Amino acid sequence: MNWRIPLSDIDFGDEERLAVDEVIKSKWLTMGAVTQAFEKEFADYAGVKHAIAVTNCTAALHLACLVVGLSPGDEAIVPSLTFVATANAVRYTGANPVFADITSLENLNISPASIEKRVSPRTRAIVVVHYGGYACDMPKILDIAQKYHLAVIEDAAHAAGSSLDGKALGTWGEVGCFSFFSNKNLTTGEGGMLVTNRDDLAEKLRLFRSHGMTSMTWDRHKGHAWSYDVIVSGYNYRIDEIRSALGRVQLAKLEKNNNLRRHFVDLYGQLLRSQVPEIMIPFRYHPGISSAHIMPILLPEGVNRKVFMDHLKSKGIQTSIHYPPIHTFSAFYDQSFSFDLPLTETAALREVTLPLYPIMTEDNVVEVVDAVKEALAAANSPHL
Ligand SMILES: *Cc1c(COP(=O)(O)O)cnc(C)c1O
Repeated sequence: MNWRIPLSDIDFGDEERLAVDEVIKSKWLTMGAVTQAFEKEFADYAGVKHAIAVTNCTAALHLACLVVGLSPGDEAIVPSLTFVATANAVRYTGANPVFADITSLENLNISPASIEKRVSPRTRAIVVVHYGGYACDMPKILDIAQKYHLAVIEDAAHAAGSSLDGKALGTWGEVGCFSFFSNKNLTTGEGGMLVTNRDDLAEKLRLFRSHGMTSMTWDRHKGHAWSYDVIVSGYNYRIDEIRSALGRVQLAKLEKNNNLRRHFVDLYGQLLRSQVPEIMIPFRYHPGISSAHIMPILLPEGVNRKVFMDHLKSKGIQTSIHYPPIHTFSAFYDQSFSFDLPLTETAALREVTLPLYPIMTEDNVVEVVDAVKEALAAANSPHL
């Protein structure tokens, strides 16, 4: 499908191509100097002690769950209104995800009150997701974690460049996990980053990233080591130099591009509120600075979402849903269990995500809002 206005599009240019070319010329393709530079620059940008680059955010979440000690039979409290990787990663360790509800239809992030209700003697961790790059209530969540001795992992896949009270999202809990997948604010195609201020966790994360080996190919290449030991059965979750080169260029553009995203979110807000006030826009007046990863709206109750999205599609405008809740998937649904996630279910049925990306134009936003107005009329029509 050739979209007039796609859901997302990336800011790639000659800078990315040249950076990749440099790596290819160097003929050192796996983790090395470029990855070290990317990690250092990302750590400095987020104001965190350690940044550890990996193959993707799902791998980052897996390692985060492992190093905070999630084990078979443990429970981790997670939102259901997120991408499935958040809960899958918990399961990789043998632990069970326990789903908490969102805060409200204005605040689609995990609710601290719902988290506290889900704490059991088996709970060991809370995995929060900063939906759209908007901050979860970290002060309250850290209080709950402290009260019950739980680790906090941040799925910051949406949140590169987000902050709360001047502190980067991803750096509030024990470990933060970022995604550099193709549609994320900072992209390397596939890729991810772990961040932590704890030296002990950083050491474990590096170990698990590369087979549990005590010295790396790069160290041996530089003559720092001639052999190695393996002290845990780790994984191969390494990033490569081509992706790290893309990451460095993308990181340098991140602030500029996030500012553009925030500008388009403001414009969407103004136009939607004046032209289609029946549509709800979550996260208005939300605390902190958001990376504005996506543009979610909630349709009024009773509107046929399929008709609404099809109408936009007929105009060449791509939309999406964030998210079908995880507890409704076959792999997670359990008939014997009552999930009690009423706000998650309501929001998930009414949510539509509109196009948002740094290289769109104000005219694109105007066009989408005009089409939204028409689509809403079509989807409300009793003749359908
Ligand atoms: C994209 C995403 C992930 C997974 O990231 P990958 O890098 O594709 O593994 C995890 N959680 C959330 C909330 C995401 O949006």
